[in-house]
Amino acid sequence: MTQCHHGHDYHHDRGAGEEVRDPVCGMKVTPAVAKHRADHEGKDYFFCSVGCRTKFANDPGHYLKPAKVTGPHRVVRVDC
Ligand SMILES: [Zn+2]
Repeated sequence: MTQCHHGHDYHHDRGAGEEVRDPVCGMKVTPAVAKHRADHEGKDYFFCSVGCRTKFANDPGHYLKPAKVTGPHRVVRVDC
C-alpha cells in the first residue's frame, strides 16, 4: 500500500488585500473591488464613491499636490 501526500496548500495573499488611498477623502480603497477609478498622467487612482471620483476628475492637481513637497518651503510645527 502506497500513500501519496499531495497536501501542499500554498496561500499567496499578496496582492489580494492591497489597499490604496482615496486621494480625495483619504479613505482606504481596495483596487480589486473598487468600482470608481480614474487615471491621471498614466497612474490609476481609486475612489470610495463616484462623488470623490468626480471631484478628483475636476481638479486632480488639487488632490495630488500635498503628496510630495520638494522645494525650499519648510513647514514649521509648533506643538505647545
Ligand atoms: Zn472618498
